[in-house]
Amino acid sequence: CGIVGYVGDKKSIEVLVGGLRRLEYRGYDSAGIAVIDDETGALGVSKKSGKLVKLTDELAAHPLGDGSAGIGHTRWATHGGPTDVNAHPHLGDDGKLALIHNGIIENFSELKNELLAEGYGFASETDTEVAAALLGREYRATGDLRTAFQNVVSRLDGAFTLLALHSEEPGLVVGARRNSPLVIGIGEGENFLGSDVAAFVQYTRTAMAVGQDQIVAITPDSVTVTDFAGAPVEVETFEVEWDS
Ligand code: GLU
Repeated sequence: CGIVGYVGDKKSIEVLVGGLRRLEYRGYDSAGIAVIDDETGALGVSKKSGKLVKLTDELAAHPLGDGSAGIGHTRWATHGGPTDVNAHPHLGDDGKLALIHNGIIENFSELKNELLAEGYGFASETDTEVAAALLGREYRATGDLRTAFQNVVSRLDGAFTLLALHSEEPGLVVGARRNSPLVIGIGEGENFLGSDVAAFVQYTRTAMAVGQDQIVAITPDSVTVTDFAGAPVEVETFEVEWDS
């Protein structure tokens, strides 16, 4: 399973699919991406069970409007079988936010019951869609993706690397990790996120490791890391050594 995120002036789809390909060695049963179309401002999602070629065939048959921010995921199913519907990204109920997740949200059924009682419906059997629905609810309450994301991650138990984007904040990808890996790739006028440096090493060798229980927000020219309460955290950069 793998995760990649991108903001910058390249077309996202190529960066995301390339990153997922370099993370294939981690194993997966489904793949998907979400990008924000620079021309229309709309969120586009494409996801398929099976190998990455299923996703690239789907993208060829039903192209997405490309843009300068996106997230990509390979799934190793834990909650719900490896189907197209259970593949990530999962959407908030406004259709404007997308979330991807590697790991297991241990308290998802308690959170799901809370949302079901409020009238939320779910398309998939995943633990992840519960976090997407919560994020949608928090976004409506706060109108700010970083704050909404912070409110959600602090309610989750278990293991997770999460990335999200929202079409109303098109140059921003937010991420968080607990008991599951996440690294940042620092570029010029572009930044990357990945489960490991393989996701972006072809573009940059300058990286930062996101620590346990930390949140990261990337825009094309900024990287901010905080703890789950929103307090800033200093993170050192390191140079990736890589023989390719
Ligand atoms: N628990 C999530 C699911 O089953 C994420 C699995 C993963 O790590 O890819 O969809």
